[in-house]
Amino acid sequence: MSKAPAFLCLPYTRGQAALTEPLNAAIIAVMAAEQKPVNILGIETSCDETAAAVVADGRQIRSSVVASQNKLHEKYGGVVPEIASRAHIENIYPVITEAMAQAGIGKDDLDAIAVASQPGLTIALVVGITAAKTLSFMWGKPLIAINHLHAHLQSAMLSEERLELPAVALIVSGGHTSLYEANSPLDLRLLGSTMDDAAGEAFDKVATILKLPYPGGPNIERIARNGNPKAIRFPHPMLGRDSLDFSFSGVKTAVLYYCRGQDMKGENRIDSMSEQEIADIAASFQAAVTDVLVKKTKRAADKIGARTVLLGGGVAANGALREAMQRMCEKSRPPRRMLVAPKPYCTDNAVMVASLAYYKYKAGLFAPLMLEASANG
Ligand code: ADP
Ligand code: MG
Repeated sequence: MSKAPAFLCLPYTRGQAALTEPLNAAIIAVMAAEQKPVNILGIETSCDETAAAVVADGRQIRSSVVASQNKLHEKYGGVVPEIASRAHIENIYPVITEAMAQAGIGKDDLDAIAVASQPGLTIALVVGITAAKTLSFMWGKPLIAINHLHAHLQSAMLSEERLELPAVALIVSGGHTSLYEANSPLDLRLLGSTMDDAAGEAFDKVATILKLPYPGGPNIERIARNGNPKAIRFPHPMLGRDSLDFSFSGVKTAVLYYCRGQDMKGENRIDSMSEQEIADIAASFQAAVTDVLVKKTKRAADKIGARTVLLGGGVAANGALREAMQRMCEKSRPPRRMLVAPKPYCTDNAVMVASLAYYKYKAGLFAPLMLEASANG
């Protein structure tokens, strides 16, 4: 693999963009003519997973390593930023080394280093960014900045070369619930997002009320299999006829009231409830969240005339959500195609970062070495 010259990773200052962009384009054209795969190392540390992966040509996964911090955050029932950041510092070097080893390549085979730079916990993002900038500088590889949410969406497109457009994309994770219009991996328009709790956050908080282990989503799903989704009518907040935004804090509070009484003076009754009653609460909560997610996605898809629905993020691993979204797509006239991220790539990973970076690489969209973390999307 040809070695990218060092000038590619110079910061874009004082008009250097004008100088480097044609040169970048020339290098990309030469590589395309040589038909060499474009190998990108992706790095992800936006929340509570330290991840690195090597992906060739945006699709061929050569390695994927994820160091999950679930055990560290379990006793707090949610992610503690300071703990997350410290764990990233400990994990980042071994995770990147392992990803390179699993891929069976050396630094000379890499064409770029990509990193999730926004949105997320700033003190977590900064660990991945620092590692990526250091490698970019030391190895003379271009740096690519990736939006973590756009990358989640990319995992839904991993298996698909051609999409019928426009597509509507729902990203449901621990920190975000967002609807996009997608016209290409790099052309995304935000249609709506959560006004309070994200869907995953609501799953995690309800799991804490039900005294289920963290992360809550998979445990609620497991318990809900034995429950009746119609047993309790929790709110299904639609926020008005045209809204494409979300609000899940009311559903979470309704579960809390159900367990402790309307005046909140009572003890959490969970310890005295039967397994069936807890399963009914889990199933009814899951049904409320799922119903809103699917209805809003349909609303957005109708509005923009979407032919395809993309589903990504940690909550996209939820079987009830996947099935309900699939049914909605099949019932639509004409039917819509649903593409969902493979389960291992629903929660945070670096494959999605390296995969999306391929399109930025082809477009010559490189980042300066003074790249900084941003908490917002
Ligand atoms: P973040 O970027 O915020 O860490 P992730 O994309 O890693 O989010 O997803 C983590 C979230 O996904 C957690 O809130 C977790 O509870 C939720 N989650 C994971 N699996 C499931 C599931 N099967 N059902 C519902 N939620 C799930
Ligand atoms: Mg996570």
